[in-house]
Amino acid sequence: MKLRVKPLDRENAGKGIATIDREAMADLGVSNGEFVRIKGDSGTAVLRVRVGRSRDRQRGVIGIDGQTRKAIGTRIDQLVRAKPVDVSPASRIAVVLPDELRIQGDLASYVHEKLTNRGVRAGKTVAVTLGFSSLNGSSNRRIPVQVVDTDPGGTVVVTGSTTVEIVEQPPETASDDEEESAEPPGITYEDVGGLDDELDMVREMIELPMRHPELFQALGIKPPQGVLLHGPPGTGKTLIAKAVATEIDANFQTISGPEIMSKYHGESEERLREVFETAEEAEPAIVFIDEIDSIAPKRDDTQGDVERRVVAQLLSLMDGLQDRGQITVIGTTNRIDAVDPALRRGGRFDREIEIGAPDTHGRSEILRIHTREMPLVEGIDLDQYANSTHGFVGADLESLVREAAMNALRRVRPELDLEGDEIDAATLERLSVTERDFRGALRE
Ligand code: ADP
Repeated sequence: MKLRVKPLDRENAGKGIATIDREAMADLGVSNGEFVRIKGDSGTAVLRVRVGRSRDRQRGVIGIDGQTRKAIGTRIDQLVRAKPVDVSPASRIAVVLPDELRIQGDLASYVHEKLTNRGVRAGKTVAVTLGFSSLNGSSNRRIPVQVVDTDPGGTVVVTGSTTVEIVEQPPETASDDEEESAEPPGITYEDVGGLDDELDMVREMIELPMRHPELFQALGIKPPQGVLLHGPPGTGKTLIAKAVATEIDANFQTISGPEIMSKYHGESEERLREVFETAEEAEPAIVFIDEIDSIAPKRDDTQGDVERRVVAQLLSLMDGLQDRGQITVIGTTNRIDAVDPALRRGGRFDREIEIGAPDTHGRSEILRIHTREMPLVEGIDLDQYANSTHGFVGADLESLVREAAMNALRRVRPELDLEGDEIDAATLERLSVTERDFRGALRE
């Protein structure tokens, strides 16, 4: 059966889950918690099914995360084949962990917990996120866990009673890499909260001309060459640009406006040209210009020669894009009025999209993204923090979550052996972030 791909609910990303609406589940003959095999253009994945949220219920859609979309070669709005698979529970699996992982103690039970309910197969690598892998930060790291053996064979599901063995070296198994890849996919749609419409607009504007320039030729119009994202700092403008680049598999070149302007004597123009050239070699590509207002202040501002030359260079590079094909420029600014009007005229930054501060729903999504891999205490109500953080942008919410995690870390700190450079797995398992940690973080 064919299903149309949608981004996955944020909190389910990276966990081997797909969401399908109830009707499609019935048509497919699977129920909640069972497994389906999904086939994309370049691979397959076995994912555990959950009922899609009623909010975005549409017939015949499947939510798959960016990591899996990339691994199986599919994109949002494309069709994939799905069919139910029987997955037997594993009595035992053997895994190899990366060498540099510095955790001691009962790591097996920690990994077990992370893999529970996931479909795995010998020869495949599953990316799991381990939180708190170092003391100097509360960051999450995606760790490639290589499954080298399972009992029984085939695709199996890790259950509470599976024995997980950590082995040193992979025995010589033929690895077929058709399924999930551990390659981190970069920023995906699931990492951006509360900006679904904006993401879609940007993608549509960039993807269509890249994929089907002939449509624009047939209509006799120039495809949009640039998109201007504007809004307060920390709202996710950079994230959107990166997520779209990942989604359409475009190379991503970054220029920082202020950095360009701090160069002198023709170096700024030279640097701009270089970036466009690199993009051209790597096309399809997105050239991302952060804080474009600093490159291109309005002409009636007191403006020196440098600015005028850099603006002229940027204009000519953008005008030249027509013949270059698949390159789009995304500019961002916090001060839309400060952007040179010449850049905002047709043929350059054709579309302007405002990225505002998130509403309650957006804040809730963003909190879910940043706590996705966090060991939250059971029953914690994130929505209350979405309600009480009016005016917070994404970057503020991210630091709130980080602060809460640091509070949790401080609580177990006395138990940690700070002398050794390995962390005890048992301590990792005990770590959990509580309401009190969040309240503490909010007060700061
Ligand atoms: P901008 O480019 O608008 O100044 P960024 O995209 O660089 O902001 O956001 C900074 C950080 O804040 C991001 O790396 C991310 O962790 C967090 N963040 C901001 N907006 C969002 C969002 N909408 N969803 C999830 N995280 C966000």
